Amino acid sequence: MTSGGYDVVVVGSGYGGSVVACRLVAAGVDVCLIERGRRWAAGDFPTNVVGLLLAVRVDSRNWGVILGRKDALFQIHEQGDSLAVVACGLGGGSLINAGLIARHLPERRGTRGGRKSGTKTGTPAKPRRRPR
Ligand SMILES: Cc1cc2nc3c(=O)[nH]c(=O)nc-3n(C[C@H](O)[C@H](O)[C@H](O)COP(=O)(O)OP(=O)(O)OC[C@H]3O[C@@H](n4cnc5c(N)ncnc54)[C@H](O)[C@@H]3O)c2cc1C
Repeated sequence: MTSGGYDVVVVGSGYGGSVVACRLVAAGVDVCLIERGRRWAAGDFPTNVVGLLLAVRVDSRNWGVILGRKDALFQIHEQGDSLAVVACGLGGGSLINAGLIARHLPERRGTRGGRKSGTKTGTPAKPRRRPR
């Protein structure tokens, strides 16, 4: 920690936190990024069933059960009718997700008064011919 502290503290290094931290640093802001998990290098990931089981933590509020290491890579949370699987480590969900990236498509706005009002990116909508 610097003696003068930080302008911003970002909690969590997943897509959300790391992109925010990166953009802030690029803008000249003094940022501290906090991550609860460890760093996972390429050779650290489990490659067999035992390793995989040891990399899981289950926290079920419904059953009052907590199993596994606090910094386990896969974290399963259950509460009420909610079930979440998240990652813990530097990089967050990017450590365990499938790495699929959806292509950005300009979103169409709805029609108002029967007229197309264009797209969110400002591209005017093409006029449609009405069937006769
Ligand atoms: C199995 C799986 C597959 C997926 N596949 C895809 C895919 O193919 N394509 C896609 O686009 N999305 C995919 N997703 C979704 C994507 O991974 C998430 O939407 C994304 O990771 C969410 O980013 P986030 O920054 O909000 O949270 P996370 O990535 O979950 O990051 C949160 C971070 O904060 C840390 N943290 C939490 N609490 C604290 C604390 N108190 N102090 C410090 N650190 C803390 C965590 O350890 C973690 O690193 C997948 C998700 C899963 C579970």
